[in-house]
Amino acid sequence: MTTYGHWTAGAWRAPEKGHYPIVNPATEEVVGEAPESTPAEVADAVAAAQAARSGWSRTDPRERAAVLDRIADLLSERRGELVPLLQAETGATLCVAKSLQMTPAVDRFRRYARGALEPDVVPLAPSPVPAGPPAPGGLMNAAAVRRPVGVVGCITSYNFPVVNLAGKVGPALAMGNTVVAKPAPQDPLCCLELGPLFQEAGLPDGVFNVVTGSGADAGEALVAHPGVDMISFTGSTGVGRKIAETAGRSMKRTLMELGGKGAAIVLEDADDKVLESAIGAVGSVWSFHSGQFCTAPTRALVHRSLYERVVTGLQRYAGALTIGSPVDNSTIVGPLISAAQRDRVEAYIAGARDQGARIVAGGSRPAMRPGFYVAPTLIADATPEMAVAREEIFGPVVVVMPFDDEDEAVRIANGTSYGLYDYVFSADTGRAWALAARLHSGNVGINTVRRHPETPFGGFKKSGIGRDGGSFALHAYSELQSLVWPS
Ligand code: NAD
Repeated sequence: MTTYGHWTAGAWRAPEKGHYPIVNPATEEVVGEAPESTPAEVADAVAAAQAARSGWSRTDPRERAAVLDRIADLLSERRGELVPLLQAETGATLCVAKSLQMTPAVDRFRRYARGALEPDVVPLAPSPVPAGPPAPGGLMNAAAVRRPVGVVGCITSYNFPVVNLAGKVGPALAMGNTVVAKPAPQDPLCCLELGPLFQEAGLPDGVFNVVTGSGADAGEALVAHPGVDMISFTGSTGVGRKIAETAGRSMKRTLMELGGKGAAIVLEDADDKVLESAIGAVGSVWSFHSGQFCTAPTRALVHRSLYERVVTGLQRYAGALTIGSPVDNSTIVGPLISAAQRDRVEAYIAGARDQGARIVAGGSRPAMRPGFYVAPTLIADATPEMAVAREEIFGPVVVVMPFDDEDEAVRIANGTSYGLYDYVFSADTGRAWALAARLHSGNVGINTVRRHPETPFGGFKKSGIGRDGGSFALHAYSELQSLVWPS
């Protein structure tokens, strides 16, 4: 078990207020201790990022690319040491920890090593300008150039700590920004490990700093600090709103990746193959990190003609999943992150039951002790007004609801305050494409839950503001500067 300091200006700093324990969600044992960073210590980290800003922003992009590539190399080389820690602090199954927590993080650093070399100048056509009082007429040339924003505060959610942070830090560093990271309280240890790893990769001291805390204080201090130019946030809509309010006061740039309540719409033309992929897609809410992912298709909206068939298919799917210790290779469903999150999820299930919805699978706490387990739960016959059908649960819970025509499907799908990721399952992909235009959602998957790494990622409505992903992330972490000059 390791006791960590915060990582500031290229060194571990002992926290003035001490530490708090990080608990393994499966064993309930303490994995390590993270620092309780005070506002003064957050300010030190911001000062380090400010001091490093000028130097890093003026590095040759090839140098930034080389450092990011080396980070990817080191992360890949160290996966043997880091994956067990990552697994223990997140409670992810071994398969998820290896292939979906660490591998995509390496890929993201590699991607943004290339990103550092993408053109940062947008040439514009010359424009004739008429003579006026201040200057004679002439042909004006112009270009827009991407410049770093400055010091970026990266505040992330639990669930995929290193991948989430890599999706922010990779493009932020590629564009010449410096960073203060504030990972989630529940699983920050691997993010702290990134400090010395980045240093070893050649990142100058102060360009990347990490602070943590068991409560909201460290994040609040980072958002309020006048030396921070941008907040890149991944987390719940409620916290995002608070951050946006504070950040707005000092006109900080914000990138907000918030909650979701994805709808998977199954149209009546779905043939056996499409139905099978729809059931597998919705089943991912149970089989992938116990439903703790923002893009989860947690609402299955099924044409009435296929409704009972899909309910039965999902019931079978849920029943076949092995719940157990995440380090057992046969386990598909591991624990939730904490007792608090398990209790929250159970309260949603109890609420749905009380309101008359049908619990088709799961619904009770599995017998395993210790650990924060919830059985894969399928709730049928819920109405769109019920909390379980409207609010983000962030656990292994699926709600299935029937519809009679496309208008009704669209109405239900758009009927929450979220708009992050929806899915359409149809034998006619042209019809699904047309239906996507009616969905108020930042992303729509047609007959798949697979993602494409180059697409812009973000939400409509209360699911977020701005986009990252692929080259769009490079745009998110830069400001456009216009340059004009006469011919
Ligand atoms: P959360 O909002 O509770 O916490 C997220 C982060 O914000 C944590 O680091 C937390 O310490 C910090 N924080 C809390 N209060 C703060 C404040 N007042 N000021 C500054 N920082 C503060 O979210 P969570 O429970 O960690 O994660 C689950 C949520 O994250 C879900 O809503 C999920 O949909 C969302 N999420 C979204 C995406 C996306 O890309 N859209 C990805 C993953 C998770």
